[in-house]
Amino acid sequence: MNSNDEQHFLSGKRIVIAGAGIGDAIGREGYSLSLRGDPPSEGIQTLQKLGILQEMIDESNPGSYFTLFNYDFSSLMEMRSPPIEGLSQSSIGISRSKLREILLKNVHSSISINWNCAVTSADELDNGQVSINLSNGSKDQCDLLIVADGSNSIIRKCLRPEHVLNFAGAVCITARTHALDQFPAPLDKTWGGAIGGDGHFLFVAPSDRTSAFWSVSYLTDKLRPAKPAGTMMEQEIDEVLDEAKQRTKVFTEPIGTLIKETLRSSVAIFNAKDLVPFRNHGSVIFIGDAQHAMSPFAGNGANMSIMDGYQLADQLVHSKDLNTAIRSYDDLTIPRSTTAINISHRSIAMGHSQGIWNYMYVGILKVMSWYFGYTSKKIHN
Ligand SMILES: Cc1cc2nc3c(=O)[nH]c(=O)nc-3n(C[C@H](O)[C@H](O)[C@H](O)COP(=O)(O)OP(=O)(O)OC[C@H]3O[C@@H](n4cnc5c(N)ncnc54)[C@H](O)[C@@H]3O)c2cc1C
Repeated sequence: MNSNDEQHFLSGKRIVIAGAGIGDAIGREGYSLSLRGDPPSEGIQTLQKLGILQEMIDESNPGSYFTLFNYDFSSLMEMRSPPIEGLSQSSIGISRSKLREILLKNVHSSISINWNCAVTSADELDNGQVSINLSNGSKDQCDLLIVADGSNSIIRKCLRPEHVLNFAGAVCITARTHALDQFPAPLDKTWGGAIGGDGHFLFVAPSDRTSAFWSVSYLTDKLRPAKPAGTMMEQEIDEVLDEAKQRTKVFTEPIGTLIKETLRSSVAIFNAKDLVPFRNHGSVIFIGDAQHAMSPFAGNGANMSIMDGYQLADQLVHSKDLNTAIRSYDDLTIPRSTTAINISHRSIAMGHSQGIWNYMYVGILKVMSWYFGYTSKKIHN
């Protein structure tokens, strides 16, 4: 912070945040988010700094680590984040709705959230201010606009149209189950992805404390028409579920049970997309998916968004001026989100591998798993 007799550069300024960020999840509550403590993620450490991690752990789903499985759900590799001092868990899966609930509960009383009021367009004025149009028909003006309106950001399309989403090469069919009496193994202990070896990748995880999420994906050159949950007719849902059964035929349980118990209104199709992270300038700061969208194969977009919010606030409070704050924030977020996106591209290639490539990946994972398991046993003995 500046010295007491010097005014902070944001003192008396009006700041608008477009998008209540990851906390605002209307229509997107069907899946859980894995929040992790391993670099470059560190969403867990950020929640700890915010003082709300234990609350999240208390509300988290069963299972505390990600596993990469073979097609028969035998474990290829368990990915556990390094332990964090004073905490029982260093990674968690939590439903979006719970995450949202806890974030909202902890919003400072001085901050007002205007629900159902989207920013429909923005204009950067010559005096450095930003004029915004709102979905309720009104106009507003602010000194700083923080854009957290997600991967399909309307404001990015309006102000930075050169930064567009790229197709990452995979199409996903996803759904979640009804509430289950109990989670089928291995979802009672872990969540993760299974490599089919026939070009299909399957992801399974608790979506909350009673239902499970599944996603089967395949590689293609062509985008498929996206079908958000709740937009398909009964016959189309039947066809998509039949397709999912076909595409998961090499995998063993629990996928048969999960498809059988699927909540029909949750069936969806989407294309995995991402965005090359870009630098900010002026009085408009893009954060989260709006600045560096990444596909679910990164398993990291929410971790990045949580860190972005914290680090941007930190830079705005501690920098001497806006340009320095923006530069410092970008210097933090761009390298780590680039790393996460690059890792997601490797995960897409590995998860959908077939033939010789599949033998190679599975072989390497088995050797690594044996080596690290052996080394950690030696350390602990
Ligand atoms: C199936 C799936 C699984 C995933 N799993 C994981 C995971 O395990 N771990 C992980 O870290 N990440 C995961 N992700 C990624 C994660 O969900 C996103 O990266 C994260 O939600 C991005 O947060 P955000 O706040 O930037 O954007 P969003 O969460 O998209 O939030 C943006 C919000 O802004 C609001 N908004 C939109 N437009 C406007 C506007 N014009 N004006 C005002 N408000 C607006 C919307 O209501 C929206 O809720 C997953 C994604 C998917 C699709």
